[in-house]
Amino acid sequence: MTKRALITGITGQDGSYLAEFLLTQGYKVIGMIRRSSTINFERIKHIQDDIQLVSGDLLDESSLIGILRDHRPHEVYNLAAQSFVQTSWTQPVFTGETTALSVTRVLNAIRIIDPDIRFYQASSSEMFGKVQEVPQTETTPFYPRSPYGVAKVYGHWITVNYRESYNLYACSGILFNHESPRRGLEFVTRKITYGVARIKLGLDKELRLGDLDPQRDWGYAADYVRAMWQMLQQDVPDDYVIATGKTNTVRHFCELAFGCVGLDYRDYVVQDERFKRPAEVDLLVGDASKAREVLGWQPETSFEELVQVMVESDLTLVRSQT
Ligand code: NDP
Ligand code: GDP
Repeated sequence: MTKRALITGITGQDGSYLAEFLLTQGYKVIGMIRRSSTINFERIKHIQDDIQLVSGDLLDESSLIGILRDHRPHEVYNLAAQSFVQTSWTQPVFTGETTALSVTRVLNAIRIIDPDIRFYQASSSEMFGKVQEVPQTETTPFYPRSPYGVAKVYGHWITVNYRESYNLYACSGILFNHESPRRGLEFVTRKITYGVARIKLGLDKELRLGDLDPQRDWGYAADYVRAMWQMLQQDVPDDYVIATGKTNTVRHFCELAFGCVGLDYRDYVVQDERFKRPAEVDLLVGDASKAREVLGWQPETSFEELVQVMVESDLTLVRSQT
């Protein structure tokens, strides 16, 4: 029997990698896209003929019910969200609607159409925020530091609650930051590698950033989507931290990325108050022992490889744009 998987957020970074991965596993992949005035299939155009795109929106529960009724997936991966921390301060209510309450909408649709559907919720290390212990595990208390983090805490707990209340197979993957050449340009890693490429090719003279001291546990997105799938293949549903266990500062990311093209970041990076946040998450570093032991998951790409791959990809991209 061909398994069917529905991915919300298929046009995003993780959605595109997860779709690729599920296709290699023989799945029929159904991707939910929301209506927009311009097409944004950049990340999925290479697999567009292999997947089925359906129209819906997280904010509209009837669209979710309709999709589940018409396509009867065995697994639902809820990756769609307002995912950018900085925007969550200027659009806190929208972030709450999309990133928090919509998780309940998807879970309700599952209960109505088919409670046997297996559900994955894209939770985040931003839930740990002002960290209560180092490293962070599945039992570390949450202390979110942004409306985004607060919304993700809601999404996490409603997933746990529906599992316990209605016996759904629902998992929350607490993923630490993961990047790739497909990462949105507003996130710091991609902003840096794209900026490095533009500076190297003579198109920009500086790169304006916020705080360089925060530390993140950065992994590679293609490694992380495997863990999402593995969570849904177990006998019992559970929650897992997915991380590399290593942390680096934004400054060190700059140092490596500029170093890839033979430049010194100190000659180009300018600190700009506009990119600082009202409340910062200073340090994230995860302990993925449970995922390693139960799922057999571990990251395959080092931090240095990740930076290198992103810089090279952006050099190619910027060259093609000029
Ligand atoms: P992206 O921002 O790249 O993608 C977000 C996706 O959500 C896009 O496809 C977007 O569609 C879609 N979306 C947003 N709002 C709606 C809506 N109302 N209805 C339907 N679709 C919507 O995020 P990532 O791929 O990086 O992340 C995937 C998930 O994992 C997110 O939930 C994120 O918060 C979470 N996460 C990510 C981490 C990371 O480091 N990347 C870490 C931990 C958690 P469109 O293209 O139309 O905008
Ligand atoms: P986040 O961990 O989900 O908030 O991912 P980001 O990539 O947006 O930010 C990671 C860290 O980089 C945060 O601590 C930011 O404050 C810091 N940072 C420093 N300068 C910038 C910048 O110009 N843009 C972004 N997005 N983050 C920055």
